[in-house]
Amino acid sequence: MNRVIGEYIGTVGGPLLIIFGAMHGNEPAGVRAIDLTLKMLEVEPIKNPSFEYKGVMLGLIGNVAAYKRKDRFINRDLNRCWTKQNIDGLTKKEKLNEEEVELRELNEIVRKSIIKHQPSEVVFLDLHTTSSDGGIFSIVGDDERSLEIAREIYAPVVLGMLEGLRGTTLHYFTAANLNYKASAITFESGQHEDPLSVNRAVAAIINCMRTIASVKDTDVENQHDSILQQYSQNLPEVARLLYKHNIEIGDDFRMSPGYHNFQKVENGEVLAKDINGDIKSKSDGMILMPLYQKKGEDGFFIIKDE
Ligand SMILES: [Zn+2]
Repeated sequence: MNRVIGEYIGTVGGPLLIIFGAMHGNEPAGVRAIDLTLKMLEVEPIKNPSFEYKGVMLGLIGNVAAYKRKDRFINRDLNRCWTKQNIDGLTKKEKLNEEEVELRELNEIVRKSIIKHQPSEVVFLDLHTTSSDGGIFSIVGDDERSLEIAREIYAPVVLGMLEGLRGTTLHYFTAANLNYKASAITFESGQHEDPLSVNRAVAAIINCMRTIASVKDTDVENQHDSILQQYSQNLPEVARLLYKHNIEIGDDFRMSPGYHNFQKVENGEVLAKDINGDIKSKSDGMILMPLYQKKGEDGFFIIKDE
């Protein structure tokens, strides 16, 4: 299986938009969305002769080995491996495990692509889905450009998530690490198996292309806005992480049934159980990414409206 889903090269220079799908192998919606977007870009100039694309879009599968097996990861969560230390260490290792091979290949493709295209800026869009239902959202680092692009996706932006995590694509694909003007956004488009998660990911890609001026406002159909705005109705525009529940090995974590993204929770509410008994919410707020799958280190996140 090929890691490169496709590359679309515009007629004029501009930004390089690198989109990852299936950084978690059990999340195929992003790969489908990238594929569909590339097909739309191919036919657009025929439908609309004045269509012009500035820059390059590159669509990549994140964890190819895990994607083939429809599993979140093989050895380690690839979206917790993106540290400079890890990546610099790969050259010294004799034998790489599956995720280390993925890391090395992705990093090489990204860096070669920047050198090849010399873009005006690099923008990373990392597409994910969640095991629970009920809400789409973006995660960004604390740089202004990423926040600006995320806001224009028209889904809630959750701030502070990177403080509770380590080694995500957002931590690694920064201007400092790449020595290039770069921003990065993670977009969660809904539940893993919901077919509409694909449509919402396509809408996020198109909105992102518009914000970075790869496509003109007038060339974008506003259905993309309405798909996301409708789904984000009653959700906060910007929220912030209060805390997350870490799962330790052997915890036997079991999320209480029925929770969905952005559901309100109260201080003291029993959210899950593990070997130590009830796990209660430590504050009022909203729950994000309650874990309803076997693999994962984060039981749930509690956020509040900004
Ligand atoms: Zn994911």
